[in-house]
Amino acid sequence: MKCEKCGYKSKNNREKHKTFLCQICYSFSPDNESSFTDYVAEKIDGSVLETFRKYSVSAGEKQKQGMIKKAIQGNLMSRAPFGYKIQDGKLIHAENSREIEEIFEEFLNKNLSLRKIAERHKLSVNGLKKVLKNFTYIGKIKFNNQIYEGGHQPIISTTLFNHVQNKIEKLEIK
Ligand SMILES: [Zn+2]
Repeated sequence: MKCEKCGYKSKNNREKHKTFLCQICYSFSPDNESSFTDYVAEKIDGSVLETFRKYSVSAGEKQKQGMIKKAIQGNLMSRAPFGYKIQDGKLIHAENSREIEEIFEEFLNKNLSLRKIAERHKLSVNGLKKVLKNFTYIGKIKFNNQIYEGGHQPIISTTLFNHVQNKIEKLEIK
């Protein structure tokens, strides 16, 4: 049986809303039927998930989810985002973590262009946009277009982050 999202072939693929999914895609799938349809429609390359498969054998459902999240986190965190550093495989605040808060505050409260803020912090405009949209800074991780609770310390408040997302949307920054 082939996973309808990532194409992985396995006897253990599971059915949900009449769709067969591999264990990994299954464990991340939303329950709501219409979000589920969107989720399946967004195909992914099964090889991306190879790293995580070994964690899905012989574990209970809840345990499995936890392990998969950990694996994803470990995998995504092979390079620390600006403001963080990696220590013992964990993401911790770097010396420059205060700068992240400054960047978010400047974007929200000062009438500075993206270019100006980017220059100030020695970032490219694209790099700056990535920072402003990065869920890592509120302690979450994004994988496969879904947001999960991360195991690391946030740098900024969710309120500040949300205000910035609203402004990004208002200014139609892509
Ligand atoms: Zn799959």
